Amino acid sequence: MATPDYQQSPFVQAYPETSEFWAAAAEGKFLLKSCKACAKAHWYPRVVCPLCGSDDTHWIETSGRGTIYSYSVLERADPSYVLVYVRLDDGPILISNLLKAQPDAIQIGAAVQARLMPVEDGRSMPFFELAD
Ligand SMILES: [Zn+2]
Repeated sequence: MATPDYQQSPFVQAYPETSEFWAAAAEGKFLLKSCKACAKAHWYPRVVCPLCGSDDTHWIETSGRGTIYSYSVLERADPSYVLVYVRLDDGPILISNLLKAQPDAIQIGAAVQARLMPVEDGRSMPFFELAD
């Protein structure tokens, strides 16, 4: 079965101001919106900076490196998985899944790296793995 075109996703169509994010994600690049007025990046991408209210925002590519701010192992799910809050080195905190990690190896403050991976509707989303 072919992967659906991310541009047909209702999430992508509903928020055209995020189209640059999805296009970059499809190529494995992780973009953030950053604000020229307050010089801070934010998540999720918005036209108006949520930190200072300026509309002078632009796209930056993040390395995707960060550290675990908090996490939860969902052991009762089948299969179990790990929800993780990551503080990116570029500033914002976002929620995602931590992949391939043994629960005993996870610690708050541990270094992680984002990977853009496709989900069911064709979009690519940032997931995280423990960094080497
Ligand atoms: Zn700002």
